[in-house]
Amino acid sequence: MSLASVYVRMEKVRIEDVSSYMGPATVKRALSKPLGATDVALNYYELEPGDSFAFGYHAHGDQEEVFYLQAGRVTFETEDGPVTAAAGEVVRFGPGEYQRGVNEGDERVVALAIGAPQDAGDLDLRRHCETCGERTSNTIEMTDDRDALVTICEQCGAETGRFT
Ligand SMILES: [Zn+2]
Repeated sequence: MSLASVYVRMEKVRIEDVSSYMGPATVKRALSKPLGATDVALNYYELEPGDSFAFGYHAHGDQEEVFYLQAGRVTFETEDGPVTAAAGEVVRFGPGEYQRGVNEGDERVVALAIGAPQDAGDLDLRRHCETCGERTSNTIEMTDDRDALVTICEQCGAETGRFT
């Protein structure tokens, strides 16, 4: 048996053929599965002004994440304050590092996010909760009629965001 046959073979995918997810991004196309990727998480994003890669300020327990900005500008909230990245730049966050990228510009953002390992581990997602009056840990849930994803405050159960 040759070494190559041990692995999943080459795959090619046209990004626009991959369906887009509901969520905080205008377009999110999850490429890992169509590519048969086993060790890396690969997501293609387009963000209209005001949209975000993520549901909130968050950290992945086990996964480092790299963002390649192909077009537009993204402002990341980071543990060290805001950092803006523009087309042609690459940003890397380590496992356990809190961040959230938002398109605060007036141009559509096109970006690729690369995460490894593929299993991100525990997600800690923080959002402002009006009821609690502070930023709290949240979970993400699908509505019963599956028409939206909602973020729920873990402290009080209030809905803090709704994404279609
Ligand atoms: Zn709350």
